[in-house]
Amino acid sequence: MIRPIRLRRKRVIIDIDTQKDLFLANGASCVRNHRRVLMNIRRTLAWARVKHLRIISTSICKPGKNGDSFHTAGWQKLSYTLRNRKIEFSADNNTDLARDIFVHYDQVILNKRCENPFDEPRAERLFTELRADELVVIGGLAEGAVVATVLGLLQRGKRVTVLIDAVGTHDRQQADIAFRKMKAKGANLAETRDYAGATHLKSTGVCDCKLCRLEEKPLKTSSIGA
Ligand SMILES: [Zn+2]
Repeated sequence: MIRPIRLRRKRVIIDIDTQKDLFLANGASCVRNHRRVLMNIRRTLAWARVKHLRIISTSICKPGKNGDSFHTAGWQKLSYTLRNRKIEFSADNNTDLARDIFVHYDQVILNKRCENPFDEPRAERLFTELRADELVVIGGLAEGAVVATVLGLLQRGKRVTVLIDAVGTHDRQQADIAFRKMKAKGANLAETRDYAGATHLKSTGVCDCKLCRLEEKPLKTSSIGA
């Protein structure tokens, strides 16, 4: 019998494909509204760090010749999605995972050769055996890897919350359909501020497009009683 992965923490962040090509303006296929989504991803991960929440990240990679995987620059994860105590697994057909992995690491990064993590044996095992009260999902794309991951987790009886404003999409309409599907299957849809509070960040910190470098002007202080 396989014994479950030990995880006593209440919440675990599920960080889906937060990679440069998908989230930066100069990436190969940047999401819509990337500035706002990046702010919310950054805010969520800062909150996770303060609360010592563990993170499971998936990362899409290009399959190599021998069934292994490799990354190009555009497939790198955004810098603030990485924790110091992390372990990364390449996409292969093994399922080995130490039971006490979350005792030694704050973050497990699972590379995958396809959108759906449940098609990768190791990711399938980790997600299936994971015991946590609530899984909090961020990343992209809503209509792609996010909906596939969330539906797979729900099928396995997990409690899933999706922070919809920290999820990127290429197509607003497809994203809305995907969110409705997730909700119908039992996912809780929430906003970043419901969990991580409002953001005080002025810039996304990782993207240098004009929009992201734009600092918001401070609000005018109204004269009281004048
Ligand atoms: Zn930008």
